[in-house]
Amino acid sequence: MAGKTLIVGAGLAGTLVAWELIKRDLEFTVYDNGSPSASRVAAGMYNPVSFKRIVEVDDAEERMELMHATYSEIESELGIKILNRAPIMRIFPNAQYREHWVNRIAKGHPVAKWLRPVENEVPDGVEAPWGVGKVSESGWVNIPLLTSAMNERLKSEGCFELKSWSIQDGVPEGFDRVIDCRGVGAKPELNILGLRLAADHGEILTLKSTLDLQGSTLNKVKWLMPFEKDTFKLGATYEWGVEKSQPTKSGKEELLTAITSALSKEVYDALEITNHESGHRPTSHDRKPYTGEVVPKVYVINGLGTRGVLIAPKVVRNAIDELFSV
Ligand SMILES: Cc1cc2nc3c(=O)[nH]c(=O)nc-3n(C[C@H](O)[C@H](O)[C@H](O)COP(=O)(O)OP(=O)(O)OC[C@H]3O[C@@H](n4cnc5c(N)ncnc54)[C@H](O)[C@@H]3O)c2cc1C
Repeated sequence: MAGKTLIVGAGLAGTLVAWELIKRDLEFTVYDNGSPSASRVAAGMYNPVSFKRIVEVDDAEERMELMHATYSEIESELGIKILNRAPIMRIFPNAQYREHWVNRIAKGHPVAKWLRPVENEVPDGVEAPWGVGKVSESGWVNIPLLTSAMNERLKSEGCFELKSWSIQDGVPEGFDRVIDCRGVGAKPELNILGLRLAADHGEILTLKSTLDLQGSTLNKVKWLMPFEKDTFKLGATYEWGVEKSQPTKSGKEELLTAITSALSKEVYDALEITNHESGHRPTSHDRKPYTGEVVPKVYVINGLGTRGVLIAPKVVRNAIDELFSV
């Protein structure tokens, strides 16, 4: 079965596919055409808890374990630091939510293993009248660094090309199969094939501030994530039906408005915007990624959506196991 694989797309999905093939000592080349990529703008946060109802995300434990193992292996192989542990500090929106959090812990709900008890002390500059609760095991993966470091490695080994591919091209000569990881770049073709891939537009700001969150990411509807010294990412927006991705005035206002009540006036007024980015998250209609053969010898891995960092390691490993077990 082995032979040579063409991976199309060098975002998070294509990078993890390359990694799985490297580990199995299988031959491949990556094509990427440099078109817009969600992975180049993503903040890369992961969180085993869904805050809306205070429950675990699907398969939280298994996904977290595989995620840590995969990104740690890549860190060692490429000599980079991409995995950053940063507890999320959830600001309670009201007394009922706080009580819900307390009850989840008191009653030993499955989500409780990820939750820390309520805290009333918060860092200077943070406004949290009903207190906060933390998720200790969360953090973020530097996806732009991951993808660029992997691409550099593959270029140096002669297995990366700046090139476009479409399903019409089929399996190019010299290859035995294609794994299509084009994110939203594949949308028109996959839609024709009956896969309802959608583009979820997101915007994100980079801010300068001397606020000290003591290593935590702040969450109150939106999130404020410490990125580098005195630098934060503020995100993200979600919008359907945006054809061309670009940062917008309304996106910026939405983000800033959402964080106003979480910060003291002094801290908020001193925020300095240094960057504003946007991208399209490739999303399936039921939020479950698409994997499998779409036309003979062309396999798709797409639809990683909003939680790409956490779900991609398992999705990609399972897809590659299945593909090469035949
Ligand atoms: C603003 C924003 C914030 C986000 N924050 C988070 C977060 O905090 N946590 C999280 O887990 N996820 C987050 N995401 C989602 C995450 O970015 C995605 O789940 C993930 O990056 C998708 O990876 P992908 O490889 O499928 O697609 P992409 O990253 O889009 O990669 C597709 C690649 O295919 C290439 N390509 C496209 N068409 C062609 C073609 N015809 N030929 C050759 N190459 C082609 C593109 O150039 C690109 O490099 C965020 C996304 C956005 C937009």
